[in-house]
This record gives sequence, C-alpha cells and structure tokens, in this order.
Amino acid sequence: MTAELWDKKNEAMPQNKLKELQLKRLKELVNRVYEKNAYYKKKFNESHVKPTDIKTLKDIEKLPFLTKQDLRAYYPFGLVCTDLDEIIEVHASSGTTGKPVVGPYTRNDVDLWGEVMARSLYANGVRKNDIMQNAYGYGLFTGAHGFEKGAQKIGAMVITISSGNTDRQIDVMKDFGATVLACTPSYSLHIAEVATEKGLDPAHDFKLRIGTFGAESWSEEMRNNVEARWGITAHEHYGLTELIGPGVVSECSEKRLHVNADHFYPEVIDPNTGETLPFGEEGELVFTTLTKEAFPAIRFRTRDLASLNEDVCDCGRTLPIQSRIKGRSDDMMKVKGVIVFPSQIEAALMQVKGVSDNYHIVKTKQGDITSLMVEMEPTEQRYREGHLEDLEKQTENEIYRILNLHVPVKALQPKTIPRSTGKAKRVIER
Ligand SMILES: [Zn+2]
Repeated sequence: MTAELWDKKNEAMPQNKLKELQLKRLKELVNRVYEKNAYYKKKFNESHVKPTDIKTLKDIEKLPFLTKQDLRAYYPFGLVCTDLDEIIEVHASSGTTGKPVVGPYTRNDVDLWGEVMARSLYANGVRKNDIMQNAYGYGLFTGAHGFEKGAQKIGAMVITISSGNTDRQIDVMKDFGATVLACTPSYSLHIAEVATEKGLDPAHDFKLRIGTFGAESWSEEMRNNVEARWGITAHEHYGLTELIGPGVVSECSEKRLHVNADHFYPEVIDPNTGETLPFGEEGELVFTTLTKEAFPAIRFRTRDLASLNEDVCDCGRTLPIQSRIKGRSDDMMKVKGVIVFPSQIEAALMQVKGVSDNYHIVKTKQGDITSLMVEMEPTEQRYREGHLEDLEKQTENEIYRILNLHVPVKALQPKTIPRSTGKAKRVIER
C-alpha cells in the first residue's frame, strides 16, 4: 500500500530521474566548492581532479574523501563556502574526542533542514494534530533543533522541554497530552522506568503513539522493548552534524530507512581500501551533501557501517534504503580474533528473559589483548527470584550463540548502572 508522502515529487521520483538530479546537483556543488573554498581547491588539485572531470555519478569516486581530521584542522569556519555573514545558525558536536565539529547554516540550509526533517517525521506518521515532547538536549547539538524545525513545518505542537528532569518530563507528558516522544531510545526507557516507579503504566497512562529516536545505536531487540514499554511505534533517525544533523536518513511506515538522496548522496566504501562497494555490500557509509550552501561535505567518511540497496519499498518511496547501522567502525572491538560490535551484545542480552535494558560492556586492555565482560541488571522481579548465576550462564550462552565468543556476564543489583538522559554509554573501559 502506498503511504501518504510529505513530498511525493521528490520522495517517489523514478530512480533514473533521481540520478539525473543528483548528477546535476553534484556538478554544481563541485564547481561551487572549487571556486569558493581554498581548502577544497587545494585538495582537488592534489588529487589531480577538476570540476570538469565530473561527468557521471560514478566520477564522484575521483574526488578525495573528507574526514573528521580535516574538519578539526579547519575548525571552526575554514570549510565554509559562503560569506560568513550569510550564516544565520551554528551547531556543533560535543567534541569529546578533540575539537568539536561545527555546522554552520545559511537561511536556505535551515529551510532545507526543516524540509528533510518534516519529510522524515511525516514518514514516521507525525501529523499536524500531534504534540511532540522534544526531550533531546537543546543547545549546540543538532538533535533537538532538527526535530523542532521538522515538526513545526508539519504544523505539530512542539514541547521544548529538552532532556533531563525526568519527573517533570512525566508530568508534562501527561498534562500536555504528548503524542510523540523525541529523544534517545535509552532515555525513553529511563522515563518509562521512572514513570513506573511513580505507579504509572507507560503503555496506558499516556497518549504517546510514536517515538522518534536517534543519536545512539540500538538493536531491533531494544526497539521491541521500547515499543512494548510505551505501547508506541518506535522509529529510527540517522544523521550527523557534519551533514546537517538529523534528517539525512529516516524510517517509513515499513520501518525501512530511506536516504534523502536528492540532498545527501550516499556511498558505501571498503573502510580499508577506500574502494566504492556495490549496493548490497556492507562497508563504511560516505555521504556528499548535494545542496547545502554554508558547509557542504564532499565524500564525508562517517565511520558508520551499513549497506545500501535500491529495492522498491511498499511505502512508495523510491529513495535508496540503508540498513540499520551495525556500529561505528570506531566501536568495533577485536577479541580473541573475533570482531565484536556492542550492538551484537545488546541483541543477545535482549533475547534473555529476565535481563533488563540496563547494561554495559566492560572493556579491559592488557597490552594488545582486549577482553570483555558484560554487567547487566536483571529485571526487579527476576532479581528477587535469586539464582542469578543461572541467568548469567543463560546470558553467556546467548552471547556465545551470536558471537561464538565466551564473554563473562555479571548480574548487578537493579538500579546500579547509571542512567543517561542523552546518549547512553554502553562501553566502559577499566
Ligand atoms: Zn519505505
């Protein structure tokens, strides 16, 4: 069944037309950055590529990659491709591992952001009569602002509550009759936990019907938990400060992730060789912003692993489909020769009855040897039943079944793992 689309013309255009549009925009972009930005010009020259060399979409592979290191080197405004006085809004990433990444926007960039977010939220089912509790942290981060712009473009009411103060979140959610919750998936579970402690039933005592979640990687199993706890449909959003914020990729009613590829051109590359991989193969996602003015990114290496395909989706969109993010290549751990992603361990934990959604993975490094263990909280009920060693064993077996790797599991007393109001820290080093 074809769903109602926010922007049918662009979301459901024939794939050959989309490719024509992408090529036209790519040529314009490459010309523009070459003329306007000394860094890009130098980089293109070093790679012996000129704007006129871009004749087909495949020619994008001739262009050099943009990395996080490049962005840091040109902090804060070295990669801006317009006059600085054209910029009307600035965001930045947290910069926990160095200088933050700065995202400047012209008026057209802000409009584009609202448009792709409206498209994304509409695809999740958000409509004019919805009330969105925006519990992403307001501030330099893109998250809250992107969700606000998109929801307002649709005409929905936005409760600008920001993250934290969970008691107040619950009161406001109830009193204002919020129907959409926007935050990290882990924070939604924490709100549900606190609501339950207050004697409320998250699935029945609120009007929530949709969750629009992002900013952290979460497994399908975690999604099932979130949906069951709140009695909602939970949707994934994917985006990056380097590209625009949220609004790059989002889910349709079929829970498939569509790339807004008329604005963000996606590629998958082999992270080791940099070679472009065909659709269907898993590798590192690379994006080119086709229409952004202030801060265009050309072949930005995301370090996130996923695959792409061009299947026709039942929702009617022709935009390419991205798999769920398997993990950031930075998060990849090698333990006894086995490649491990935190999301795989999460998937195993969520399969075991009696294990709650609160856990962390403890990573220890001795010389070159990495070892892992998992600390998890059983559900309150399971904790009271005792014989926790049985639960630990069962969880270890489930991890072994998925990873073929023995990872010790320790059951902790409920409520000992710190809760997060933003991105949950799932891997800790000791
Ligand atoms: Zn779809």
